[in-house]
Amino acid sequence: APNIKTNLVTEDWVAPWFLPRPAETHKGSFGHVLVVGGSVGLTGAVVMAAEAALRSGAGLVTAAVPQSLQPAIESRLIEVMTTPLPETSLKTISLEALPALQSLLERTSVCVAGPGMGRYPEARAVIRFVLETAGVPVIIDADGLNALAEDLGVLKDRQIPVILTPHPGEMSGLSGLSVAEIQADRLEVARGFASEWGVTLVLKGHNTVIATPGGDVYVNVTGNPGMATAGSGDVLSGIIAGFMAQGLLPDQAAISGVYVHGKAGDEAKKEKGERGLNAMDIVHYIPAVLKAFE
Ligand code: AMP
Ligand code: MG
Repeated sequence: APNIKTNLVTEDWVAPWFLPRPAETHKGSFGHVLVVGGSVGLTGAVVMAAEAALRSGAGLVTAAVPQSLQPAIESRLIEVMTTPLPETSLKTISLEALPALQSLLERTSVCVAGPGMGRYPEARAVIRFVLETAGVPVIIDADGLNALAEDLGVLKDRQIPVILTPHPGEMSGLSGLSVAEIQADRLEVARGFASEWGVTLVLKGHNTVIATPGGDVYVNVTGNPGMATAGSGDVLSGIIAGFMAQGLLPDQAAISGVYVHGKAGDEAKKEKGERGLNAMDIVHYIPAVLKAFE
């Protein structure tokens, strides 16, 4: 809609948010990201989000996953810690995991909930519990968004900042609008939802829109169609979490996270082209993009 004032995300604008690391620091200075998710056949989503958070500069990253999947996930993560959670008969996170989740949340700076979580009845209660229990910012992505869509009211009566990162299909579930309606009016749909629910809303896709709870709207133009590939969104949620762990405010982390994700994708495209670009190639180029800010 022409009446919405939008801001174009530029490198000059986000780079100053990345302060030099003081010499007198240790890994605890750069925050601890908790990734909650994973289910049978969807373990890679957790791996990609966790790796992306670490490559984005988080001091510590822990992946909390259904217990029978923990060995497989651990085998693919070197620096990332993993925690096995009680699971359902479907090997998805069960309600018995909630006490363990609570103690993990108490040791965390920021939580990403949803990557590879799967669609199953208890997911709704797991997402609700995270939002009600976490004393830290929460990023909800992927199947976490599908669970949240059934229970949007949990976004009311909450103190913590929340970032939602839907693609248009997930936005359809959250908003009740069709994908065509969303795509025809991306700025207004994102702005309206963020304002109504008091969240930072990242509406993904070509020219990702970031809308803040305060009503501001940003448009990012980094990225390319090669990033329309499995796992690309999981990488984005990890980057945003990694930035928040280091102290960026939620809106800053969302805006710069989308920018860096797209820029890393553009660097990956130079090497791989669009067709051969995989999500882990985006992770591979995060350090080069961030190095330019130092
Ligand atoms: P997901 O659908 O959750 O895997 O997220 C896909 C990610 O890739 C989002 O960050 C999108 O913004 C990005 N992406 C997908 N297609 C494009 C495109 N054509 N141009 C730029 N970014 C894209
Ligand atoms: Mg996704």
